[in-house]
Amino acid sequence: MIRFFLLLLLTTSIFASSVQRYRWTNGETFLVFLEKNSLPMKELYYNLDKDDQRLTEELRSGVHYQVVTDANKTIEQLLLPLNDELQIHIYKTKNAYKFEAIPIICETKLESYTTTIRSSPNYTILKETGSKKLAQIFVSSFKKSLNFKNDIRRGDKLVMIYEQKYRLGQIFSMPILKVAMIEMRHKKHYIYLNSDDRYYDEKGRQVEGFLLARPVRGARISSYFTKRRWHPVLHKWKAHLGIDYAARRGTPIVAAGRGRVIWAHRMGSYGNLVKIRHDDGYETRYAHMKSFRRGIRKGRHVKKGQTIGYVGTTGRSTGPHLHFELRKHGRAINPLRVVQVTTKKLKGKQKKAFLKLQKMYDKQIEKKLENMVPFEKPHELQSQCYLKHGINT
Ligand SMILES: [Zn+2]
Repeated sequence: MIRFFLLLLLTTSIFASSVQRYRWTNGETFLVFLEKNSLPMKELYYNLDKDDQRLTEELRSGVHYQVVTDANKTIEQLLLPLNDELQIHIYKTKNAYKFEAIPIICETKLESYTTTIRSSPNYTILKETGSKKLAQIFVSSFKKSLNFKNDIRRGDKLVMIYEQKYRLGQIFSMPILKVAMIEMRHKKHYIYLNSDDRYYDEKGRQVEGFLLARPVRGARISSYFTKRRWHPVLHKWKAHLGIDYAARRGTPIVAAGRGRVIWAHRMGSYGNLVKIRHDDGYETRYAHMKSFRRGIRKGRHVKKGQTIGYVGTTGRSTGPHLHFELRKHGRAINPLRVVQVTTKKLKGKQKKAFLKLQKMYDKQIEKKLENMVPFEKPHELQSQCYLKHGINT
């Protein structure tokens, strides 16, 4: 029988259960966590399949998690967020503990910010919104194409429209920039998030980033990045924290950016894996390689576009492909949103679709400029976030 259970994540008693919020401590592993809480390691780790075991490695220090205990302080449920979309749910049935990965429920709001620049965009955004994240996404999106230092004049304007998530009434996760505009010496510069998940400028040119578009030339993307995905055959939630490029065995793999090799060795289900550390806390990973290029080892500096190895199918892989990951400060992020080239220009049907999207955004921006509404700090929402799931009893 399936009983639907609604759990309000508030620190109050519900049916003699209580919910507490904790912070994941620095460097703690999932296994140590289980041991500390006297939870069965066999059921909750060793018996899991490889994918679920790998998910547990995604737990990051600093993340807030919830523990539901009964009157005897026995753990009934645990909610451990893995990223902003997926969480591990551990729950107690009559005589066992169960493990599952389930979606995080949160609210997404489309928000905007319009202002007159006082000195630099970074300073202005920080001062007015108090949000480092907003300043960061704005500045980094124009970093390569514009020179804020020389070309900004007092009185120039900026607009950004972005998506913000809220969980339990609080701002949650990085905002996603949808469109941004900056006026410099009466000239407007734009950046748009297109439906292909990449950023383009007002001429439909892809915006340059510090990384190459694809680490395997001419390869086809066979699997996209997703923080959560429902697996129809296995009937469970999974995550794919990278991009798969299908290519023939032996095809050269190149470093997506300048950096230092910090790992070139086998690593569990990744098979032959190269990790490269880049500037600003970025790291790229290249998995399932057939072999490494001669001389590629820990400590080596590599240039953008330099061959580091060859496509293979080592580790947990069903056929020759490159599994490519991009991480920032340890967190997996979607490479397509960051990895960009200058050469790509939209054509034909894609261009038409982009122009339509552009028109819609431009109108919104004009409206924002007309109104110039000052930034309003998001007020704390009443908690509308809850977990809803079925428990087999
Ligand atoms: Zn993959």
